[in-house]
Amino acid sequence: MSYRGRIAPSPTGYLHVGHARTFWIAAQRAQSKHGTLILRNEDLDPDRSRPEYVHAMFEDLHWLGMHWSEGPDIGGPYAPYSQSQRRHLYLEAWRTLVATGHVYPCTCSRKDLQQAAQAPHESTQPTDSQTTDEEPIYPGTCRPNPGAPPITPPESPAGLNWRFQVPDGEAIEFTDGHFGPQRLIAGRDFGDFLVWRRDNVPAYQLAVVVDDHLMRITEVVRGQDLLVSTARQLLLYRALGWTPPDWYHCPLVTDSEGRRLAKRHDALSIRTLRQQGQTPAQVLGLE
Ligand code: GLU
Repeated sequence: MSYRGRIAPSPTGYLHVGHARTFWIAAQRAQSKHGTLILRNEDLDPDRSRPEYVHAMFEDLHWLGMHWSEGPDIGGPYAPYSQSQRRHLYLEAWRTLVATGHVYPCTCSRKDLQQAAQAPHESTQPTDSQTTDEEPIYPGTCRPNPGAPPITPPESPAGLNWRFQVPDGEAIEFTDGHFGPQRLIAGRDFGDFLVWRRDNVPAYQLAVVVDDHLMRITEVVRGQDLLVSTARQLLLYRALGWTPPDWYHCPLVTDSEGRRLAKRHDALSIRTLRQQGQTPAQVLGLE
């Protein structure tokens, strides 16, 4: 099977140096394997995605000298390449997960979860995770009783949160192409996670798995901050009966004080650095 890689920016802000370097590594890996690189526009969240950032993302990536052979601007065999146009595919996966008893409806509000996370019995959670994609471990309030039969999926997921029930205590293991062997414990390092939000937006975890599978991605290259999400996604691959890709997580770019670059750290956006006269090679840290 020939190599297929992807870059998957979210148009929720300007791309920064960290994105540039991760995408560059993704492009280099695809090139060195004589593979195909895909651009996917992850405009999943209508409230946070903006057309001007989609435009800016193309401009910045072109300026950096990046090329892709499938994407929203040029089409390809696995179109559409914008997540906002792929909802029907995510819905199909959601339906399968409900029908097979892997996900359940959840009425907990964000506030409920914050309160639960502060409760004394939750304070034993490990805090030594090296990743930043953590969210409070779901306390299980809406989990179905053990042995309860799967429910019939309603017509639409809207109005409820839908959570994937993780196999508590199971070690999820994978070998990362950069960081080597990884081992995360379900229910300890991460808990039941959202696959669909009550405001009727599919969650990142579900959309990315559906897309990487259907677009036949053979290796996912992305930031180190998503290592825990890889464990979640491996559970989705298993539940959906799909073969997962290989994984390659890139070390995060930090500023001189060791702080992670947030997407809205405008001083370090690609366009700001360009306007200040930096070359693509300088932004990419190649010279
Ligand atoms: N759109 C996601 C982001 O920008 C991509 C995550 C991934 O590569 O899986 O963080």
